[in-house]
Amino acid sequence: MSDKKQNRKNNRMNNGDEDYNPKFRKMRKKVCALCSDKDFVLDYKNPEQLKKFINERGKILPRRATGACAKHQRDITIAIKRCRHIAMLPYTEN
Ligand SMILES: [Zn+2]
Repeated sequence: MSDKKQNRKNNRMNNGDEDYNPKFRKMRKKVCALCSDKDFVLDYKNPEQLKKFINERGKILPRRATGACAKHQRDITIAIKRCRHIAMLPYTEN
């Protein structure tokens, strides 16, 4: 039984996946949409633009989903909250 286990381990080693970590399997380097586009101005009076950063329930997407940098994620969050306050975006849906 222990032979089988050993074989599996060896196979993985042979594939060169010694640093294999399932946590980072599908992680791709994302570039912040707001940093890459200089003309992109975040506007809290523009719900169409902010809808890209919320899910169907109206929740603000996390940084791993938006791909935004820390600075811009903060700006997005503030813009969405302002937009909600003036009733142009929902706080929640359904
Ligand atoms: Zn950015």
